[in-house]
Amino acid sequence: MESNNYQGYLQNNTIFKVLIEESVSPVGLYVGRDMVIKLANKAILKVWDKSEAVIGKTFREALPELEGQPFFQLLDDVYTTGIAYEAHGEKVDLFVDGRMQTYYFNFTYQPLKNEQGEVWGIMNTASDVTELVLTRQKLADNQERTRFALGSAELGTWDLDPVNDIVTWDAKCKQLYGFPDGEEVLSYKEVLKYIHPEDKERIDKTVQDSLIPPQGGFYESEFRTIGAGDGVIRWLRCRGKAYFNEAGRCIRFAGTALDITSEIKDKEEQRKLLTLIDHSSDFVSLSDIDSNVYYVNAAGREMLGMDADAPVFLPSIDFIVPEEISRVKDHIYKAIEKGGRWSGEVIYRHFKTGEPIPVHGTSMRIYDPITGQPQGRATVSRDLRREIADRQALINSQQLLLNITSAAPAALWMSDETGMITYANQTWTTWTGQPNEEVLGTGWLEAILPEDRIRAAEKFLNDLEERRPYEVDFRLLFKDGSVHWCIATGNPQYNESGVFVGYIGACTDVTEKKVIDIELEQSNAELNAQIKQFEFVTDFMPVQLWTAKTTGELDYLNKRAIDFLGLPEGDIIGPNWLEQVHPDDRDACVKTWVSSLESGNLYQFEFRLRDKDGNYRWHLSRALPFMSDGIILKWFGTNTDIHEQKELQRQKDDFLGIASHELKTPVTSIKAYAQVLGAMFVKEGDAKKAAMVEKMDSQLNRLTNLIGDLLDVTKINSGKIQFNKTWFDFNDVVRDNVQDLQHTTNKHTLEMDFAETGEVYSDKDRIGQVITNLITNAIKYSPHSDRIIISTKIEGADAVVRVQDFGIGIPDDKKDRVFEQFYRVSGSKQHTFPGLGLGLYISSEIIKREGGKMWVNSVEGKGSTFCFSLPVDGQNITATK
Ligand code: ADP
Repeated sequence: MESNNYQGYLQNNTIFKVLIEESVSPVGLYVGRDMVIKLANKAILKVWDKSEAVIGKTFREALPELEGQPFFQLLDDVYTTGIAYEAHGEKVDLFVDGRMQTYYFNFTYQPLKNEQGEVWGIMNTASDVTELVLTRQKLADNQERTRFALGSAELGTWDLDPVNDIVTWDAKCKQLYGFPDGEEVLSYKEVLKYIHPEDKERIDKTVQDSLIPPQGGFYESEFRTIGAGDGVIRWLRCRGKAYFNEAGRCIRFAGTALDITSEIKDKEEQRKLLTLIDHSSDFVSLSDIDSNVYYVNAAGREMLGMDADAPVFLPSIDFIVPEEISRVKDHIYKAIEKGGRWSGEVIYRHFKTGEPIPVHGTSMRIYDPITGQPQGRATVSRDLRREIADRQALINSQQLLLNITSAAPAALWMSDETGMITYANQTWTTWTGQPNEEVLGTGWLEAILPEDRIRAAEKFLNDLEERRPYEVDFRLLFKDGSVHWCIATGNPQYNESGVFVGYIGACTDVTEKKVIDIELEQSNAELNAQIKQFEFVTDFMPVQLWTAKTTGELDYLNKRAIDFLGLPEGDIIGPNWLEQVHPDDRDACVKTWVSSLESGNLYQFEFRLRDKDGNYRWHLSRALPFMSDGIILKWFGTNTDIHEQKELQRQKDDFLGIASHELKTPVTSIKAYAQVLGAMFVKEGDAKKAAMVEKMDSQLNRLTNLIGDLLDVTKINSGKIQFNKTWFDFNDVVRDNVQDLQHTTNKHTLEMDFAETGEVYSDKDRIGQVITNLITNAIKYSPHSDRIIISTKIEGADAVVRVQDFGIGIPDDKKDRVFEQFYRVSGSKQHTFPGLGLGLYISSEIIKREGGKMWVNSVEGKGSTFCFSLPVDGQNITATK
């Protein structure tokens, strides 16, 4: 069918076939869907660079190089749609002369249809426009390049017609004034509006001047525009020329405008940079290629003592000390020449004083930016004087520190955060003989005795891990072979950011202390053993032992005491022991205890103490202070169970009470009978018998007195003694008693030496009883003397009576005991004197109960002075009055 169509076509068009064949325009005919080439004229074959052999092949087979280009698809589309395709200057890559070459074609793919309108083939016509396209492209490139050149030059053009006052600008010029595209500016006046106010006047004048023939002609100025539309300030450089007519009138004024904003900015930057350099604290200089310095900044001038403003132009070697010149020339200049740069230390000199100034300088070559040729040198130098001084100071202080730490009696050390020793002072080396570098890291452990080494290392690592202060003791082997006990301590260190950085510590030789410690430990052990023995003994002693602090609190009780009280030790220790004292005895007990604590005198008190069953038993508590260097350290006390004695005493008192009471009645009767009998004998005139009865009566008096004493004692002991207090003149009572007693003795003269005493408030009879007792004793115990002196006196707040005899006296050690019940000084002389040993006891008890005191001064063989005092106007006494 296709073939038929084609045949028909050809038959009908034979004439055309020839025409086509010979046409200079390339023509091809492709039939069927596969695009079998049925016709390809010479021109198209030339284009393809193929022979006629391609005819009969498919388009694809004939032109495989078109694979990847759009043509196969275009043909297929035309065949399918029946719509022609037309291309203008389309690029085609063809395999010509053995290589792929690019061509440009105008071509058409024209669909060929039968009567039914079905496509059966495609007519391809083409014309090679390669030349045209390339020329056009070149042209476009050129235009682009020109536009680009102008644009990059930032050059605008302007033209002023002064006659009609019309300004013509190109787009660039308008842009330089900040006008949006398309806006027209008409007059010169308007242009002036957009010039910066600070520049306006100057520019106007320059322009006006340019328009006048004599000066006129070339015009050049730099000014700022204010950016009509965008408000951007731009610096412009305008150049122009005025043209004049014969009449000398300007007919045209035209020129270019260049944006120099960045140039100005650069200059500004440069100026800033220069200012910066000039204000730099370092020395900065510039020199030319011949090593002449032509610029030195302010700091440099100051440093070298150059005048601030004077222009410089000096050979650069003038700046350095003579000794350095050859080095600078031979070494430094060469280094700069070779490497373009040199850095190092060099010594400048002060221009005025010649002082050498060490600096650290950097010199670099400066190259011409365009030619690349070296132009000169720039040098920046830092004054090192301060640094060197600081360095020296540091070295000095390090040396000082080294000296100090070396002199320290302790080995000082530092470690890093992993526990490696990074520093150890001389001391460690002096001790152990380890060279410093061997101490570092973990080397120090080598000097420690093997027995202690692991312990010391482990302790350190554990403490390091926990960031704890480190402390350990170990034995260190000194270089002389001796072994020393040391204590190493260290504290964790942190930097400013709080990061742990290691330890700083010390190691101290504690051998001496350790030896003392060991000795102490031994003696402590011995002491402890002794204490154990002591406790063993005391615990089994049948007496309660205790110790108390100087404050009065118990701090030790023996087992016996604890067992008695039946309380845990902790409950008794301290002040709690008082709880165990009978409530009736407690106050007096505290009073006595406190007074002993204060005075340091023997403490002695009888109280009832509660045992574990709640029964009270009488105890005699005694304590003595343990003193060292006059200071009381402790009280040592005992409690002795005196319950039995107390019972016996009570029974004895009861017996005495009953006995003396029972005796009193018959004695009174006998006395009455004796008096009657005596009276009868007197009446009968039997003087002999009467005298005998009188003797009997005086013995009865003695008996009555003895019974009276016994009764008094029982009263005192049972607390039943009573006082009948009144106000009376003290001296009167003493005198009455003395006078009565004077009658009883012929031998002794009772001398009275009274001072005014005033009144006292007391029991007159009982006081009389005391005085009688003292004088009776004085008479009794001074058989070989005849004087007894009784004196009274006010001493302070007391009335004091003294009874002095010149008799046998009392041995010193017995003096205080004479006031005890039934106590009689036993000696070769005393036992010849009758008595029960009760008088002084009763007297002292009376005085004590009346608020007074009794005491004795005596010298054996010389006599005694018994004294007592009574308060004359005590507060409670006055109140009772
Ligand atoms: P006595 O009945 O024994 O005199 P006292 O209590 O009065 O009892 O005295 C006790 C003891 O004190 C006496 O036995 C005596 O040894 C001694 N004594 C008392 N007064 C004197 C004195 N003036 N001179 C010497 N010794 C005295």
